[in-house]
Amino acid sequence: MVVLEPETAVHSKPLPELNGLNAPFLEGLRRHEFLVPRCRDCGDYHWVPYPACRTCLSDALNWTPVSGHAHLYSYTVVHRGLGAFAEEAPYVVAMGELVEQPRPCIVIAQLVGTPWQNIHIGQPLQIGFVDVPGANATSYRWVVRE
Ligand SMILES: [Zn+2]
Repeated sequence: MVVLEPETAVHSKPLPELNGLNAPFLEGLRRHEFLVPRCRDCGDYHWVPYPACRTCLSDALNWTPVSGHAHLYSYTVVHRGLGAFAEEAPYVVAMGELVEQPRPCIVIAQLVGTPWQNIHIGQPLQIGFVDVPGANATSYRWVVRE
């Protein structure tokens, strides 16, 4: 995983609020770790956090660090962003399929660092962490893995 340059402008986008369901994930981001719930019964990885395994309905989930490596499953190019996102348009919102198995686990994030014209399905990706100064928070993006 890589750590991207911290945001330099005032952060004007919404930040998530910690709650019982997402706190392990958001605290992991601050440590530059990407954690997802993993089912102890069937082994599936899940995204986004949910109280039960989406495959077998077990509630035996553990927050598990993953490699942050993925392949581009799908993406869209946003040409008209809303509010604080407008100044970044055009930008890419990507679905990355984590390399961890047994079943596909898709994580959605903005893909940065590569012009949208050079993006293609199947491209190797990795998670990049972006610290948000003054907010004691860290966000994440997809970046193309070299
Ligand atoms: Zn399960």
